[in-house]
Amino acid sequence: MTEAVPTQSAISCETLRQILLAMKDPSPEEVAAEIERCLSGGYGLPPRVFFETTQQASVAISITDPDANILYANATFSRVTGYSPDEVIGRNESILSYKTTPRGYYERMWAAIKAGETWTGRLVNRRKDGSRYLAELTISPVLGPEGVIQYFLGIHRDITEMRHLQAQAASQKALTETVLDLAPMAVALLDDRDVVVLDNHEYKKLASLFPGGEPAGHVLTALFGADGQGPKLPGDSFSEREFVVERGGSPVRWFSCSGVWFDRRETSAEVFLDAQRRRYLLLVMDDITAHKRRQEEQRIATLKALLAEGEMVQSLREAIAGAIFQLQGPVNMIEAALKMTERRGGVGDPAALLGMLREAAETGRGALDRLAKSMPGESLESAAPVNLNEIVRDVLSVSTAPLLAAGVSVEWKPASVLPAIPGQATALRTMLKQLVDNAVQAMVGARSTERELRIVTEVAPDGVLLKVEDTGPGIPEALRTKVFEPFFTTQRPSSRNAGMGLSLAQEVVTRHGGWLRVDPSYTRGCRFEVFFPRSGREGN
Ligand code: FAD
Repeated sequence: MTEAVPTQSAISCETLRQILLAMKDPSPEEVAAEIERCLSGGYGLPPRVFFETTQQASVAISITDPDANILYANATFSRVTGYSPDEVIGRNESILSYKTTPRGYYERMWAAIKAGETWTGRLVNRRKDGSRYLAELTISPVLGPEGVIQYFLGIHRDITEMRHLQAQAASQKALTETVLDLAPMAVALLDDRDVVVLDNHEYKKLASLFPGGEPAGHVLTALFGADGQGPKLPGDSFSEREFVVERGGSPVRWFSCSGVWFDRRETSAEVFLDAQRRRYLLLVMDDITAHKRRQEEQRIATLKALLAEGEMVQSLREAIAGAIFQLQGPVNMIEAALKMTERRGGVGDPAALLGMLREAAETGRGALDRLAKSMPGESLESAAPVNLNEIVRDVLSVSTAPLLAAGVSVEWKPASVLPAIPGQATALRTMLKQLVDNAVQAMVGARSTERELRIVTEVAPDGVLLKVEDTGPGIPEALRTKVFEPFFTTQRPSSRNAGMGLSLAQEVVTRHGGWLRVDPSYTRGCRFEVFFPRSGREGN
């Protein structure tokens, strides 16, 4: 139960106390008359005014003797309780008790008022017709000249309906909060000053992701930039805007966020006379990390399949090109011998020798042509704007397992903003994967104790620059151009590396109008530099 606070009733009580102090066992009429008499001197109001004011007050007023026997009750008292003044005067206030209030409650009430304190509390009261109502009651003691309690002034009102409405509002609020808390997504309601006025459990959990400040503020900043000021009109609502939360050390989290602006009539006391509408934003944030991870896994799996296919085609091209290269020499020699024999007129049976040589040359040439025709064609992939940072990310994703197995640590320094280049994404991935594979093989082959792969992207004048650095043995100056020749390899002859990788990587880069080279100034290992022009090459 709440303690009493000085209210208008308390002031009336004090006034009446002064009035009633002078009286001894008065009847209601005598009380009224005394009130009139006192007020005519003290307030300068006609005595009748105060009596009628008490009589017509909208709260139930009663005056009792020290044992709660009623001496006076106003019209509202009759209206609320159903008892006429005649029926209650002389009877104890306990006629209103519904007999459900615990005895201890009354005891505390009596202890307070007997000690001369004003008491306020809530009681279940019974009307004359037996129906019950909830009363908010204030009892004030009225002391005599010797400081002894002579009367009690009771003022109460029926708060059943208000209590019912309050309970309804509270239960609706509790229901809303329960439903919100059950929602699997974070929900926050913000007022027009971005203050969160309602939220749920999932939203509270976001606090750990956004230390220092309201999560909603961080979300609005992520969505609408540094000032966090998004559109604020009802029509400007937004839906399923995605944003990423990257906090050092913890895994990346993805969210999909929707926001609905709406207006609501303000009900606070300050704007009671000047009704205002206030703008609110309902923010719903759904953690889509698991979904995004699945999507990403699928994408990487597709990429791996694409790269595997690319690598297969590449090794086929390598094998056929190798065979052509190997055959070219003997066929050339046969052709030369044939020409010489023809010029010298031949010895022995020149016709037979010539015939044999001619046949051998034709067979060899035919084999070369067939091999050349069976060479898989270059990729027919069409060019589209490509962000090199994404290419690097993809290649690092598919290379995670081999990099880990080789004990290679990776440092990835993307340019924060990198212009797109027109290119064939799959061919570029294959090219970069070749450089990464080469770097790993070089470090493992040389048994480097320090195995670091560093990939950097930079904005260059008219294009973008990609650097792939390793801490392997490096490439001697004399071989820096040769490594791009077909079938040149620095690896042991037993290695499966045919020496076509860099040649094909250069082919891809050239097709994109760029260049690929070994940086001569790099001394920690090997650094390949790849440049791609922003405008690409005509036809790309
Ligand atoms: P009771 O046996 O009358 O009283 C219950 C307990 O109250 C007792 O055990 C005792 O400890 C204490 N008590 C009762 N009378 C006195 C006393 N004279 N001196 C010291 N202790 C006492 N009650 C309501 O239920 N509704 C009201 O609206 C209401 N309005 C009141 C207005 C005024 C101005 C006053 C002075 C009292 C009012 N009361 C009201 C209290 C009422 O007088 C009863 O005390 C109460 O209703 C309990 O009545 P009861 O018959 O159930 O029990």
